[in-house]
Amino acid sequence: VTSPDPDIVEFGRKAETLIQALADCSEEPTRLIRKFLSPEHRRAADLVQAWMSDAGMTVTQDALATLRGHYNPSNASKLVLCGSHIDTVIDAGRYDGNFGVVAGILAVDEIRRRGIDLPFGLEILAFGDEEGVRFPTTLGSSSAIAGLVNDEVLSLVDDDGISMRQALMEFGADPSAFRNIVYRPEDLLAYLEVHIEQGPVLEAQGYPVGVVTSIAGHARHMITVKGVAGHAGTVPMTLRRDALTAASKIILDIEQLARDNQAHAMVATIGRLELLPGASNVIPNEVTFSVDLRAASDAPRIAATAEIERICAQIEANRGVQVTLAQDHAGDTTACSEPIQDHIAGAISDIGLTPFRLPSGAGHDGQSLAKITDIGMIFVRCRDGISHNPAEHASMDDMGYAVAALVGTLERMGRHYSASS
Ligand SMILES: [Zn+2]
Repeated sequence: VTSPDPDIVEFGRKAETLIQALADCSEEPTRLIRKFLSPEHRRAADLVQAWMSDAGMTVTQDALATLRGHYNPSNASKLVLCGSHIDTVIDAGRYDGNFGVVAGILAVDEIRRRGIDLPFGLEILAFGDEEGVRFPTTLGSSSAIAGLVNDEVLSLVDDDGISMRQALMEFGADPSAFRNIVYRPEDLLAYLEVHIEQGPVLEAQGYPVGVVTSIAGHARHMITVKGVAGHAGTVPMTLRRDALTAASKIILDIEQLARDNQAHAMVATIGRLELLPGASNVIPNEVTFSVDLRAASDAPRIAATAEIERICAQIEANRGVQVTLAQDHAGDTTACSEPIQDHIAGAISDIGLTPFRLPSGAGHDGQSLAKITDIGMIFVRCRDGISHNPAEHASMDDMGYAVAALVGTLERMGRHYSASS
């Protein structure tokens, strides 16, 4: 492993400085908490706005308080968007979302410094609401600019009964401008996002950055197993209809199913389980558990759901229990554009690294943007795969590589677009 060149080291150093400044914008001194439209969000947005201006961008704030830093030296008509979110979960890490915004700003700064002429405008977006911590939304800011929600979201209230409309006005945004929030697909060329991986794959494989192939689709099922309660001392093992042991067999079979589908990056998680009656001397008669199922594409995930139904029917027959499966949530896989993946891969090769490709198991703003334009994502290795946790960490060199890869991707997209238009 050679050490990165001085430009990359410098990108990483700058990124870390900006990320630390954002991390200081927190509701509490010892934990990072930055909710949508909070005073901490305002302070962070003011920093981002100043950095965008310093990098040569014209900054506006839309109806949902997304900062849009516009850079367009050639006055081109089409835009490439690049962004991420600056809200955090409770007791968050410093890099999730925030690094994507910082990377976009540093990329524009570099493009201006080097006088790189791009045949499209750039708009760096700092979304205020991705995590959905304050209001009951998911991917709130990005789904609004993609036209996926209407202005009813403004009436959502937080735990203190404050509406989003009121919070936006206190923040200094103009919710009445909501009708202007949506980008027109014909004005866009692409949406790019740099994000920490939030998983352990890049670290395990030894790659600082990676090319994201898709954002995994997911399904959430609730499975209920009903057996017969009985005295733990009197009912012989052969005469039991134990809901928990039946559920355990189903759970282990689901684990095996996911392990057998590694070619599709399938993961299955039982994260919640409740059993009744819940006494140490009573055979459980009812168990309910969740199954979170994800894969890099839809067909294997749908096939796996059918297989889970078959597993349930088999256990039902073998163990004399009743099993019901209900799907309570599903979302399709979002593919990243293959030409953009190739531009990113080329840019990663240009800085002397191997362009490793991987799917994203976590959700991202790109899922919204993919409804209106092509998307591409660059992942950055994070230590031990930890995220949504104060131990979250990306190294300065890795962040430097990601910024360089973003600049290179934009240059490659620029050459490609010039040649094809
Ligand atoms: Zn994030």
